[in-house]
Amino acid sequence: MKLSQRKSKRSHRILIVGLPGSGKSTLAAELAIHGKRLIWLNIENAEETLRKLPPEAQDRIEFVNIPDSASYPIAAQTLLVLFKTGKANICEIHGKIDCPICKKDSNANITSIDFLTLGPDDVVVLDTGTQLSYSILSYTLKDAPIEKKPERDDWGALRKYTEFFKSQFQGAQYNLIVTCNCQEAELEDGAMKLVPSFGSASMSANFASAFDHVIYTEVKNGKHRAFSSSTASPKVLTRSRSDFAIEKCAEMSLISLFVDDTAPTNPASPAASDSPGNKAVAGLANIQARLKAGVK
Ligand SMILES: [Zn+2]
Repeated sequence: MKLSQRKSKRSHRILIVGLPGSGKSTLAAELAIHGKRLIWLNIENAEETLRKLPPEAQDRIEFVNIPDSASYPIAAQTLLVLFKTGKANICEIHGKIDCPICKKDSNANITSIDFLTLGPDDVVVLDTGTQLSYSILSYTLKDAPIEKKPERDDWGALRKYTEFFKSQFQGAQYNLIVTCNCQEAELEDGAMKLVPSFGSASMSANFASAFDHVIYTEVKNGKHRAFSSSTASPKVLTRSRSDFAIEKCAEMSLISLFVDDTAPTNPASPAASDSPGNKAVAGLANIQARLKAGVK
């Protein structure tokens, strides 16, 4: 097959990295204002952040609550199944798949998820990947006394599970955003950089490679900032497969990453199947987005 005829991948895998309170959830949630439907896998408490959105944006968020803790590491169990099979019915109270208690309760809130049904306007948000990695460690230590330190086998299990998630994120055929807290790590070239915190130190140093775009958020002088181009800062690991540079956008938003999704792969190519009318509309949307994004 000729590369020019192949439809480019329309889904996006985005990692948002930053300290707690730096605006990671806000940046992901803001997509709902632009019409995206979010499936929000809530492991840390982002509910208050999401409540600040306008009501019509809140209507576009499917909030899947997973009440994870060290003594109840349900996120690891539920998300292992969800990311393995792409499907799950998750109860609101326990965050459990096919919960036997909630099945018997006709008033229980159960959310059904099926990744195969997701389209270009749907985005799965995992908030946060870091808490998921803590959950995995608690899950592997589950029946051990609380003072037990992880042993070699436990680290092995943590590595196995975190590698599984990394590979599922990398292969996701739907739009996916994962948020992560950050930690310092020494990279291969010896430089110290801030990297996403996900499992072991070596996994954390490599985790970002599963994503098309790696965005770093911070608060400086009371202002929220975000970076995505690989040259944005020597201290943080950021990257974008496209030339998306959020630090140059007038508005701090991820929406311009998604704008080209309805346009043909190569607008100049006559082989594009879209009608001239569609092309014109898509082209216009593209120009508007670029103007809005402040591209010069
Ligand atoms: Zn339940």
